[in-house]
Amino acid sequence: MTVKTGSISIDAQNIMPVIKRWLYSDKDIFVRELISNGVDAITKLKLIQSLDKDEELKITLTLNKEKGTLSFEDNGIGMTQEEVEKYINQVALSGAEDFVKNYTQAEDAGIIGHFGLGFYSSFMAASHVTIDTLSYQEGAEAVRWDSEDGIAFEIKSGERSQRGTLITLHIAEDEKEFLETHRIRQVLNKYCAFMPVPIYFVDAAEEAKKNDEKTAPTPINDTNPLWFKPPRECTDEEYIETYHKLFHTFDDPLFWVHLNVDYPFNLKGILYFPRIRRDFAGQEGEIKLFNRQVYVADNIKEIIPEFLLVLKGVIDCPDLPLNVSRSFLQNDGQVRKISAHIAKKVADKLTGLFKTDRPTYEKYWDDIHPFIKYGALRDSKFYEAMKDVILYKTTEDNYLTLEEYQERNQDKVEKKVIYTADAARQEGQVALYRSRSIDVVVMDTIIDISFLSFMEYSSNLGENTPTFVRVDADISGLEADEEADSSISQKEMENLFRKVTGLDTLEVKLQPLQDEQLNALLTEDEQTRRFADMNALYGRELGLTQQQTLVVNPKSSTIKALVQLKDEKRKELIAAQIYDLARLATRPLEKDDLRRFLKRSQDLIAALAEN
Ligand code: ADP
Ligand code: MG
Repeated sequence: MTVKTGSISIDAQNIMPVIKRWLYSDKDIFVRELISNGVDAITKLKLIQSLDKDEELKITLTLNKEKGTLSFEDNGIGMTQEEVEKYINQVALSGAEDFVKNYTQAEDAGIIGHFGLGFYSSFMAASHVTIDTLSYQEGAEAVRWDSEDGIAFEIKSGERSQRGTLITLHIAEDEKEFLETHRIRQVLNKYCAFMPVPIYFVDAAEEAKKNDEKTAPTPINDTNPLWFKPPRECTDEEYIETYHKLFHTFDDPLFWVHLNVDYPFNLKGILYFPRIRRDFAGQEGEIKLFNRQVYVADNIKEIIPEFLLVLKGVIDCPDLPLNVSRSFLQNDGQVRKISAHIAKKVADKLTGLFKTDRPTYEKYWDDIHPFIKYGALRDSKFYEAMKDVILYKTTEDNYLTLEEYQERNQDKVEKKVIYTADAARQEGQVALYRSRSIDVVVMDTIIDISFLSFMEYSSNLGENTPTFVRVDADISGLEADEEADSSISQKEMENLFRKVTGLDTLEVKLQPLQDEQLNALLTEDEQTRRFADMNALYGRELGLTQQQTLVVNPKSSTIKALVQLKDEKRKELIAAQIYDLARLATRPLEKDDLRRFLKRSQDLIAALAEN
């Protein structure tokens, strides 16, 4: 063969600057491109030739820090001189497509090709690249290709005696990080951990130290990722092991959904539910997107429904045109279908678990409910699928569906759902409901505020639509079925309590309550309070004064006695104490209020001790 030199076809001049300007952080992508070309070369060989069983088809990446090289070797199909000229020199041409057309009838030949940057990405890290290749064809001659800038090249006879291709990168002066073992291992882990052909990493420096010791090398990758196995054949241990491998963690996931779709698109994957923090603020999941076992990217929002981005997992989808822009993905019908399918699968898994193993489902509930509620708010189809299995946790640690709650409590509170936003602080009021055997549900995460209004306005439950009432918002279920004692005047009570609290707008209402020991209760209108809470959440202080109602129980013997008292001072002392106790049932007292309460309590016991 004569030596040929030339300049890559015109496209290259356009493509090189683009490649060189490629996102700095993604420079390591050349490793993925070169290794996946090796994978393609081996896949092609398997497709056209029956092979000697003893020969391991593999890729070897060798780091030689001393020489400043990184080389990629495969024993795949190799290239003839014409092929090098056609596929390497004419950058714009994707050889993968050509191959599938010429050699196989199969549409799905499993060839990776088409990542976009391809072979030329090697020039992002190298100042000189050589290709030594020998085609599988009978009588083929070895070829050597050489280029320093990816534009001017030389092609001549080579010396390679084994079938396959060796690509050697002389790492550029300012890309020395790619000569560090740990960096290469990190890149291999990121892109190649699940590629379909065994990949070996050889560090020449370490190899030299080892001298004679012979240990069988192990590939850095798992060539049969679990997500391709039929779900029936996978064990829990395997799922957990894959999770550890994917996320380099020792944590265990709560559970998982195995996605396995062939039609109308091809998609395999495993979605894991990690333990989710209660407020899930700032919690980010990690969903890795693969294309035929080659890592492509993380958290592609267009493919994963937004509310599932707190999950972790992998999605392998060869049907996606992954090298195209995000805006294309956003408008692609296929992509939307995939996203909808993922949401549906997750809902199926959860409803299935609810039906077959409710105790386990309940056990997970505390961890998974924020994202389920978020999903319900965001995605009406997801809500429809999930609506019968959304649970409400009670202060007694029961997990009830809305239907169950309504069934158990409707004779006392009708379609209302009594809830607490803070079971510990509101224990005073919670206890009143408990004593009346009314379930109180716990709604104490950020998402709950929006979720309960969603249920009230958009749940499509017709006459079963719930109204959520906080324990301190009204007295449903606590009142007694009798008229107020006429010997006590509403006006007199109002004057008394307004005076001792200094609140001119305090509403006072006489209402017999079931619990005779209870003197009074303080309520705040649910809607006004929610509005204020919402504003507080967004950091807005509206300075609204809350409309509070003091419900005074005329059945209480203390109230009865209070009315009879002649000593005004004493009467006011007791009234002030009753008001503070009513307040304390739902929230702590602060500063001046607390100081006054403590002082008054001391005065009261002092008076008691005197008598
Ligand atoms: P693509 O993989 O999309 O075809 P590349 O730029 O990565 O684009 O590679 C161009 C072509 O060069 C390949 O399709 C293939 O024909 C050839 N090629 C590259 N690397 C190898 C290799 N290791 N063995 C055989 N052929 C190769
Ligand atoms: Mg390629």
